[in-house]
Amino acid sequence: MSILSLSEADFSFELDVAVIGAGACGLCAGLAAQAAGGEVLILERDPSALGTSAMSTGLIPAAGTSAQKEADIIDSPEIFARDICAKSKFRTDEELALALAQESAKTIEWLVNDCEVPLSLVDSFVYPGHSVMRMHGTPNRSGAELMGSLSHAIEREGVPILTNAKVTNLFADDDGRVYGVRFERPDGSSEDLGCRAIILACCGFAGNPQMLSQYIPEIKDGEFFGHPGNKGDAVLWGDALGAAVADMSAYQGHAGLAKGFGIPILWPCIVEGGVQINQTGQRFSNEARGYSEQAVDVLRQEGAVAWTFYDEQRHNLMLEFDDYKEAVAAGAIRKGDSLDEICMETKLPIDGVSQTLLDIASLVDDDQTDQFGRSFKGKKALSPPFYAVKVTGAIFHTQGGLKVDKNAHVLRADGSALPNLYAGGGAARGISGPDASGYLAGNGLLTATTYGRLAGLAAVADLDD
Ligand SMILES: Cc1cc2nc3c(=O)[nH]c(=O)nc-3n(C[C@H](O)[C@H](O)[C@H](O)COP(=O)(O)OP(=O)(O)OC[C@H]3O[C@@H](n4cnc5c(N)ncnc54)[C@H](O)[C@@H]3O)c2cc1C
Repeated sequence: MSILSLSEADFSFELDVAVIGAGACGLCAGLAAQAAGGEVLILERDPSALGTSAMSTGLIPAAGTSAQKEADIIDSPEIFARDICAKSKFRTDEELALALAQESAKTIEWLVNDCEVPLSLVDSFVYPGHSVMRMHGTPNRSGAELMGSLSHAIEREGVPILTNAKVTNLFADDDGRVYGVRFERPDGSSEDLGCRAIILACCGFAGNPQMLSQYIPEIKDGEFFGHPGNKGDAVLWGDALGAAVADMSAYQGHAGLAKGFGIPILWPCIVEGGVQINQTGQRFSNEARGYSEQAVDVLRQEGAVAWTFYDEQRHNLMLEFDDYKEAVAAGAIRKGDSLDEICMETKLPIDGVSQTLLDIASLVDDDQTDQFGRSFKGKKALSPPFYAVKVTGAIFHTQGGLKVDKNAHVLRADGSALPNLYAGGGAARGISGPDASGYLAGNGLLTATTYGRLAGLAAVADLDD
């Protein structure tokens, strides 16, 4: 993964912009760069363009979109940026958060109108930390659908993409100006490509156990449910070129990975009044504050597992999501028509679960906040039939990475920009602060799609310089 000097290069072809990685960030970067008039090539190590993006739920947050206006939702980049910063306890770059929020609606309109991605507003619930409904998703709320639509756009627009092409080296001079890449084919052969700018869209280091142990030891024993090809290449190259990195201990955790099934059980069932209980039937934290930071709380429980526990009302809500339907079909979701039945199904102790249900009912009635800081205000107490799913804590992707400016230009520690290097999505430092608790739902695809689009535009606009 080292940086090579130009004298070692043997370029078989040359173009304007090389994009490394074909997840949501890379495809958006490629589409934007080509539309801006650049000659571009996307290089992807896998046989197809999927990445973490295709594993995701595909929900992209944005403020001030036409879909929000049609639904009479009052939102603005300032409100959105405040939500992002508040989730990180104001430990992120507030200017960057605002800049991303300001560009977010443009990204959604561009995805819908120019790229023909069928996005609609998720209007059934508000994710924790968001003041209003601002998640936009494909019809089945699936990242695979999102990537399918983006891949169609790539094909339609004729944006060149080379799969089975793992970039192993960058060519650069001592000032950090990059001149090209070396990529490896599955048969071990390699080729050199010359370019005038590079966009790093190869995500973070969640697929690199050594880097994970070094930067985020708290989650190294959690399940990894992200893209295994994300080995931290962007950080390693950037570091060698003199780029600054930040928030390396930040990540998107998830406390709802169905144990043994590898299917994420999303948070609406919790947000709407469901709970997580351990093997004794007891709650152990404020699960509604966020799925990301809850992951380590689940890992601390006996067997590193918990049960997400809810009822038919929340079950019906969850059926909006492809992932959940898959979990039902796979048999991960247990159902019991009564307390006895669900406890028999799950082998949870009836006394513990019954006490937990009584506690929730009284919290709902009294409008109180519990000992963990959770309020059940406006929710209905859980009632039979009950549903439960055994889950564990996982890491989805890392949020620390290369420092960038608001056009996704990679920065040195002194704040100056590297001459022609850009980064977005999981390759760039996110807007989640320094740990798992700062991850506001949607921070991943917001930075992947918006930085991707902006990097594509900036890389082409800067070519003349
Ligand atoms: C289950 C799940 C649900 C999620 N749901 C959401 C959601 O609803 N909303 C949201 O905002 N975020 C969500 N996320 C997070 C989101 O998926 C990521 O933040 C986002 O996909 C990152 O996009 P990316 O393009 O940066 O990386 P990726 O999509 O991972 O793409 C990176 C690509 O780079 C390739 N690559 C890596 N190294 C090289 C190399 N050396 N040479 C060539 N190619 C390389 C990889 O193979 C990969 O295809 C979810 C994540 C998971 C796992």
